Amino acid sequence: MASDPVTLNAFLTERLGAGGVVDDPSDLLRYTTDWAGDHRGKPLLVARPRTTEEVAEIVAHCRCHGIPMVAQGGHTGLVGGAQPDAERPELLISLERLNRIREIDPLNFTISVDAGCVLQSVKDAAMEHDCDFPLSFSAQGSCQIGGNVSTNAGGLNVLRHGMMRQLVLGLEVVLPDGRVWNAMHALHKDNRGYDIKQLFIGAEGTLGIVTGAVLKLTPRAQSTRTALVAVPDVAAALALYGQARRSCCDLLSAFELIPRACLELAFEAAPDLPDPFDTVYPVYVLLEVAASGSVDLDAMIEHLFEHGTTAGMVLDGVLAGSDAQAERLWQIRERMVEGQQLRGEHLRTDIALPISSLGDFFHAASRAMAARSPETMVIAYGHIGDGNLHFNLLPPADLDLAAKKTLLHELEAALFSLVDDYHGSISAEHGIGRVKQTSFLNGLNALERELFEGIRALFDPDELMAAGRILPRTR
Ligand SMILES: Cc1cc2nc3c(=O)[nH]c(=O)nc-3n(C[C@H](O)[C@H](O)[C@H](O)COP(=O)(O)OP(=O)(O)OC[C@H]3O[C@@H](n4cnc5c(N)ncnc54)[C@H](O)[C@@H]3O)c2cc1C
Repeated sequence: MASDPVTLNAFLTERLGAGGVVDDPSDLLRYTTDWAGDHRGKPLLVARPRTTEEVAEIVAHCRCHGIPMVAQGGHTGLVGGAQPDAERPELLISLERLNRIREIDPLNFTISVDAGCVLQSVKDAAMEHDCDFPLSFSAQGSCQIGGNVSTNAGGLNVLRHGMMRQLVLGLEVVLPDGRVWNAMHALHKDNRGYDIKQLFIGAEGTLGIVTGAVLKLTPRAQSTRTALVAVPDVAAALALYGQARRSCCDLLSAFELIPRACLELAFEAAPDLPDPFDTVYPVYVLLEVAASGSVDLDAMIEHLFEHGTTAGMVLDGVLAGSDAQAERLWQIRERMVEGQQLRGEHLRTDIALPISSLGDFFHAASRAMAARSPETMVIAYGHIGDGNLHFNLLPPADLDLAAKKTLLHELEAALFSLVDDYHGSISAEHGIGRVKQTSFLNGLNALERELFEGIRALFDPDELMAAGRILPRTR
């Protein structure tokens, strides 16, 4: 047994060399404080391996000496999963130096990468070969492929291209005992029994450390049109979604709901951002169509606007005339998240519902929140083309922090109970981590829990890897 930090440090320094270990308290900060500043942890040390073999050696050492460990990617996860445990110190294994593009095959439409590649760098590499990796969201400049795999990330283009589950063809994983499971297949069809890679996708690092992935590419879009459309209400936004899916030749790639309050938050965070309309409207939709090859996207959008206006679904619309204008429209979507953050303590949720229930749910949930706390502000936006809402809550500003936390806790319980009534999910994209664990466990039946625990026990009987995420620790 050699789990004290000094011995571990000596082992890691010998194996990984200079720069492979971080132990200076000020350097540790960026690994221990999450994006929102909500969670802080304390690792034994941070290890920064450069190869799969180094990851395997570290994990085998930890297994042998009973040292708990957790993988960290870009540290943009929102449920506290990559945070080192504050109670039982873990070795934090950062994948940031395992960041090579291994191979691109433009004819097979695949890219093979190290798990520590930042998502944006994978998208850039694909572009050089006239392809795109379609996973896209505002954290793409920081999050890593291993983190995307482990959280089954989604984002803006899910309605057209799916989540990571649909985008991963092959994986390489270091199992909790240090063995390497190499299944870096680049096959679009493969029906050889159980699809083991799917177990690691969305497992939040509890079943192994992802070190490599083969990802599906799409042809690079040669033309894209972005529009902000003002609509009377959420029901009209949903009706417009149904129409757009049908009339845009299956080229619709994003469809985001943005109520007016969210625009105001974006302007708070970015006062220079112009309001694209002269009139204030209650609800907006940010939509995008994209195509490779020659398709008249302008005519497609104009037809959608005309039809939507006649049917009373569209009040007004702005079609971006340049990349810069499109970028400004997307800035509204990105900066509103920042504006929400600037307001201080708030509840962030990430729920999913059948798209056809979204309208009713939206109103029922808004009413339920208002009945419990009329001064709490509902900030509900999201990828409604996937039935995914960020139904977020800003508590009254005059409450002290403790009162805000208590109130938000009560409102969250009421909201999740309503999600249950509507047969929805409390986690559409972000996962369970530690933050959603209680609500997640409350929703599991006995059989589901037995299966979950059985899978974890098969891979990690000693509960050394990312223990306490998704399921509670038992030892
Ligand atoms: C502004 C903002 C916007 C966001 N928007 C979206 C969105 O639209 N859609 C969406 O899905 N998510 C979104 N997220 C959440 C987050 O970016 C994703 O969950 C992302 O996939 C996390 O990747 P990461 O590399 O940062 O992982 P981390 O935060 O480092 O880790 C996340 C989890 O994965 C595990 N993990 C990380 N790397 C590995 C590995 N190599 N092997 C095994 N386990 C690993 C960690 O232990 C942890 O449990 C957003 C986050 C922010 C801050």
